[in-house]
Amino acid sequence: MAPDRRPLLSSLLRQANAISDRNRRHTLGGYPVLGRSLLVSEPNRAADAPPLTHRMRCDTCGQRSARCVEFGRVQDWQLRHAAAHPTHHTYTETLTRPWLVAFRG
Ligand SMILES: [Zn+2]
Repeated sequence: MAPDRRPLLSSLLRQANAISDRNRRHTLGGYPVLGRSLLVSEPNRAADAPPLTHRMRCDTCGQRSARCVEFGRVQDWQLRHAAAHPTHHTYTETLTRPWLVAFRG
């Protein structure tokens, strides 16, 4: 019987975390998979992928805008909210971006 050459799961996770740390500022990450070339992580730009969306939340009261494709619409919500609540000064934007992983030769 051939020896099992698969690396231990803990070793794979350590490698994946190290690669993830190195690629934190990049949009594309790669992970070598034994016998299958490279597993690549990247934003999903396919025509049928869900759209990238924005949402704004008021840090003072927690109210949120709708989730919108156009950033201008959530910014309009923020400005209307601030006009109605003059003491609410800080907001958090949540950006939702679809991602995928795929094998690349
Ligand atoms: Zn508010």
